[in-house]
Amino acid sequence: MTATPQTPDVVVIGGGPGGYVASIRAAQLGLSVVCVEFDRTLGGTCVNVGCIPSKALLGSSEHYEWTQTHAAEHGITFDGVRLDLARMMKRKDDVVARNTRGIEYLFKKHKVTWAKGVGTLRPGNVVEVKAGDGAVSTYRPRHVILATGSVPVTLPFFPFDEERVLSNVGALRIPEVPQHLVVIGGGVIGLELGSVWRRLGAKVTVIEFMPTILPGNDDDIVKEAAKVLTKQGLELHTATKVVGGRRNGARVLIETERSADGAKRMFDADYLLVSIGRQPALTGVDAAELGLALGRRGEIVVDDQMRTNLPGVFAIGDAVGGKLLAHKAEEEGVIAAEVIAGHPARMHYHNMPAVVYTWPEVATAGLTEAEARASGRAVKVGKFPFSANGRARTMGSTDGFVKFVTDARTDEILGCHMIGPNVSDLLAEVVLAMEYRGTADDIGETVHSHPTLSEVVKEAALGALGRAIHI
Ligand SMILES: Cc1cc2nc3c(=O)[nH]c(=O)nc-3n(C[C@H](O)[C@H](O)[C@H](O)COP(=O)(O)OP(=O)(O)OC[C@H]3O[C@@H](n4cnc5c(N)ncnc54)[C@H](O)[C@@H]3O)c2cc1C
Repeated sequence: MTATPQTPDVVVIGGGPGGYVASIRAAQLGLSVVCVEFDRTLGGTCVNVGCIPSKALLGSSEHYEWTQTHAAEHGITFDGVRLDLARMMKRKDDVVARNTRGIEYLFKKHKVTWAKGVGTLRPGNVVEVKAGDGAVSTYRPRHVILATGSVPVTLPFFPFDEERVLSNVGALRIPEVPQHLVVIGGGVIGLELGSVWRRLGAKVTVIEFMPTILPGNDDDIVKEAAKVLTKQGLELHTATKVVGGRRNGARVLIETERSADGAKRMFDADYLLVSIGRQPALTGVDAAELGLALGRRGEIVVDDQMRTNLPGVFAIGDAVGGKLLAHKAEEEGVIAAEVIAGHPARMHYHNMPAVVYTWPEVATAGLTEAEARASGRAVKVGKFPFSANGRARTMGSTDGFVKFVTDARTDEILGCHMIGPNVSDLLAEVVLAMEYRGTADDIGETVHSHPTLSEVVKEAALGALGRAIHI
């Protein structure tokens, strides 16, 4: 039976960071909002099978490794540290549940209706929602926001079974510590989840097609990350292509070819994580039927106000491509909601931060040194190592550095690249400075508490001016 058409101001399809934030912001602006989500819980990839569970396991595995590698130097000795993997996984699930329930609470608080089911956009901006029991509700909103997210890219010879051949979903719930985990893809997800399982005792081999891990990042950062992660025990094979393979019972065989000389090699693993990127998901959105414009990679084409080519239809988050980051999706959601409410908001991406939560962490924003030089500007670079910082020494975490790339003529900060302890948080002050077109001088002349890791940021900024103090 089809229910009566309903006419909210906005229907958002997708309850991930893009969709749920767009819903809340639209409700704050006085609009009536229905958010359609077919998953059991709100929060999308990020909260359920991405950012949050991966960071929970990264945190737990860091503690586990620390007890074995660093505790003794602090005068703390343990007799027989044991891993209770089931408990670690339960804690991760509890953290996820607290977050998903938090979003449900926010929906109630802001009177956003959660329509549970699969949403389909029909021509004329009609949204049909099919619930689990087959019941269909039809909405005729003034505006639609598509926030349908992304799915992992697969390799032809390795379809995901989430038992032995894993995407992020399976890699976050392996029931035992693998003997040998092979990770295809040396990007953020591969290195983070590879680090989790290495810390818990697995041999981890990372195979990357490009010449370096973390392709696209600043060269100095990539070199340091490769050095530190290798020292920790990750086996990195870059410039290496996966050319074949198969699952064989409880084993997975992965055949590779080295770009330099064509040398072939077979890896034998008990688990394989394929993390070679993600692609836009257009569930319930038949672009051809709707006449919705898509880009080269299947992403929904939008302008800087998140409008698609269809009147009244907006799109945000992973579904529109670019950097696949939760905070990017959230910001795009805010912009779409504000534009719908009549505000002159516009999205820009110049200072979009990005973080890799390995240890040490990697955090970057703006142009790499190579990009800044390629733009034809005269460029200055300032670098300061954590090994020369008092707080990093007290923590026993001295790997890495902060690097500023500035315009030699104006001192404007063009980019900042960090690898080191807690840099995910340290980057925020630089992004704020960049948002206001700040200079190295602005950061260098700002008083930073002592002893803090943030002094490394100040010293690196002073370094770009040729006047770092502690080096
Ligand atoms: C392992 C991993 C770790 C990550 N870590 C980070 C991190 O640390 N920091 C970071 O910034 N980013 C991280 N990301 C990326 C981040 O998760 C995504 O960029 C973010 O979730 C994108 O948000 P979104 O709202 O666009 O899409 P999603 O989060 O994918 O949400 C889309 C939602 O829409 C729903 N949906 C789709 N179609 C329909 C339909 N037709 N009807 C109803 N519902 C529908 C889906 O069920 C889903 O819940 C990580 C990703 C992974 C996989």
